Amino acid sequence: MRYILLLNWNAINFDVMDIQNELRFDEVFIQKHDDEIFKDALLQLNILRLDKLHPIVSGNKWFKLKYYLQEAKENNHSLIATFGGAFSNHILATAYACNKQNIKCIGYIRGEKPKQFSQTLLDAHALNMQLEFLSRSDYAKKKTVVNPNNSALVIPEGGYGETGAKGAAEILQLVPNISIYNYIVCAAGTGTMLAGIANATISHQQCIGLSVVKNNISLQNETLSLVKNEAKNRITILHEYHFGGYAKHTKPLIDFMNRIFATYNLPLDFVYTAKALYALYHLAENKYFQPESNILFIHSGGLQGNRSLPKESLQYF
Ligand SMILES: *Cc1c(COP(=O)(O)O)cnc(C)c1O
Repeated sequence: MRYILLLNWNAINFDVMDIQNELRFDEVFIQKHDDEIFKDALLQLNILRLDKLHPIVSGNKWFKLKYYLQEAKENNHSLIATFGGAFSNHILATAYACNKQNIKCIGYIRGEKPKQFSQTLLDAHALNMQLEFLSRSDYAKKKTVVNPNNSALVIPEGGYGETGAKGAAEILQLVPNISIYNYIVCAAGTGTMLAGIANATISHQQCIGLSVVKNNISLQNETLSLVKNEAKNRITILHEYHFGGYAKHTKPLIDFMNRIFATYNLPLDFVYTAKALYALYHLAENKYFQPESNILFIHSGGLQGNRSLPKESLQYF
């Protein structure tokens, strides 16, 4: 078994406020989505435009990182280490936040070092994140990180964990009249955002998470383990809308994204929010929701993932 040795760097003071000043909470808004499909099903759909928060630490990524950054500061960690794929929004968000806070960071990247770095990796590298590439089998054993003197704060892949969910619970604080919604719908990768949101709901609200990974059956338990007991029955995870698997896409998905942008000025990303909104259309058409319901869709950001698409696939990117 191979172990990952984290270096014992000197502690650097940093201030979580550095990045907080850049966040544009005043630009986050609720967008009404008046499509006939929802009207016909007697549904009111509103979209929380969390993508407006920050161009890089976009959408849910700030919320999931927030308390990890605070923990690193309070416990004087000299280094943050985390994990992700070559197109990971979480890797880039962590690199950016650490750069702003002046804290060293390592990103452990799934897969052998590529000849050509993805734009995400180039950006993370330019932000001084140290990139370490792990073979897929080493990456799968990633919990065996050796961390001498506990000098590093290790953030699990995607910010998964109670610390990430605690921050994600604050997403709903941005929504006026949150109690009017019966359903809250979002994309689910690790399920951290979904868990946090469920923890912030009240009893008549149902949270629907659309898994963007194929056959990720363990997502249910991983999500529920972050959810308080009284909210566990407010979560439903659907697995049929992965479009071939994580970061895979189809022409109908890309066409959908272009149509939604042209009609509603709503930019979606093909890894998360496009799959989730597509699913929401499909569910509404199939009378999944109780008529007269109010639905809140979380636009969780992550638009930079679209940079991995061939040029001119999208009219807005
Ligand atoms: C990372 C990400 C998600 C997934 O969040 P989880 O908490 O891992 O489920 C959803 N949407 C966008 C845009 C993301 O970047």
